Amino acid sequence: MADAFDAVIRAPRIISGGHEAGHTIAIRGGRIVAVEPLESRASAVRVLEFGADVVVLPGLVDSHVHICEPGNSEWEGFATATRAAAAGGITTLVDMPLDSVPSTVNVAALQAKRDAANGRCQVDVGFWGGVIPGNLGELAPLHEAGVLGFKCFLADSGSDEFPPVTAEQMTEALGFLRGLGSALLVHAEDAEATTAIGEISSRRYSDYLASRPRGLENLAIAKVIEAARAARGHAHIVHLSSSDALPMIATARREGVPVTAESCPHYLALTAEEIADSRTAFKSSPPIREAANCELLWNGLRDGVLDMVVSDHSPCTPAMKELGGGDFGAAWGGISSLQLGLPVMWTHARERGFSLSDVARWMAEQPARLAGLPAKGRIAPGYDADLCVFAPDESFVVDPARLHHRHAVTPYAGRRLTGTVRSTFLRGELTDPEHPRGRLLAREDAPGGARAVVSSDS
Ligand SMILES: [Zn+2]
Repeated sequence: MADAFDAVIRAPRIISGGHEAGHTIAIRGGRIVAVEPLESRASAVRVLEFGADVVVLPGLVDSHVHICEPGNSEWEGFATATRAAAAGGITTLVDMPLDSVPSTVNVAALQAKRDAANGRCQVDVGFWGGVIPGNLGELAPLHEAGVLGFKCFLADSGSDEFPPVTAEQMTEALGFLRGLGSALLVHAEDAEATTAIGEISSRRYSDYLASRPRGLENLAIAKVIEAARAARGHAHIVHLSSSDALPMIATARREGVPVTAESCPHYLALTAEEIADSRTAFKSSPPIREAANCELLWNGLRDGVLDMVVSDHSPCTPAMKELGGGDFGAAWGGISSLQLGLPVMWTHARERGFSLSDVARWMAEQPARLAGLPAKGRIAPGYDADLCVFAPDESFVVDPARLHHRHAVTPYAGRRLTGTVRSTFLRGELTDPEHPRGRLLAREDAPGGARAVVSSDS
């Protein structure tokens, strides 16, 4: 009798249906076709059995990644970013529409992105489109072409090609995107208040933190909430770092305003108190804040006001990070963490009593939902067989030389983290740096986007 499946995976610890249990996962054609009890006798050409030292998680979905190619490929590129992602247990990532040249603000730019990515990706990659002043007419064509949603800034993005929108323009875009069923991701720091404070030049972290107070975020998030309320369109707040904003978001949701929010590993794992002078590897915008703020962000995850945790992988060259000068004003504000996000989160989540089911919800299921990827983020029949095999009790010390990001600059250097990624499966096969099999994902119902794929395997 022919084997019923291409592969089966048996493991006593698999995260499926919101909890950890023993299961047999049956795979055919790169998809999960059944999740059965551990004792199942399902047969297949390949049978993989794991022990109790590992937990099989859904492959993570990172909906906030700046890949910078084309145009700034000396900062980061598709080959290096997706190799780091695969090493970090991420099987799908969504690229942000800025930091590359051109920015993804029209269909030609989206095509340039896809051309740069095609055949180079270890994991599946989707794209956000950009909303900037004056490009409302480009949004429907970008949507048709398969972007997974849109992103705008309320304050200076650092890129002349990607200017911020006003609150009115944000409201108008939200109304338009509601008609397309598409979300608008918003970088929420207030432009006027940011300008009023001005730039700093200092080697002291406290000066940088004081120049980007929580108020900048609180003010902007209030505007996002009111825009979403007025337009009845889904607004998603990216990289939330001010815990003050959590009660506002909770209230708005109770009132039915369609607003969601994410935070990032660095806001949940690092604190302002520990950042020494000149340590610009720790600079992000918004900034890493005080320990008390960090603890309140964890409460936001516990309460479900924060929906997800994604990397905001925001790379640059070591020179741009000002590692020599140590001036927090001049340094690039961004942290590269694709490869480390899962162990960073697990190290700190476990201390607080969270489970790997929680981590899978924050880092796989919810980002997949935001990006509208119905075959990603869960271990369940009908989903892609994207898996992360994770050893939760193993620890390691971060050695920058072992990072696959284009540049190894990291605030986590020398830290001991709990949990190692043993292997990563993309559509039922182990990822392999020699054979990039990542696909470029389009919106599920995009014309011609058969099963959400716009290019074939290379
Ligand atoms: Zn970002």
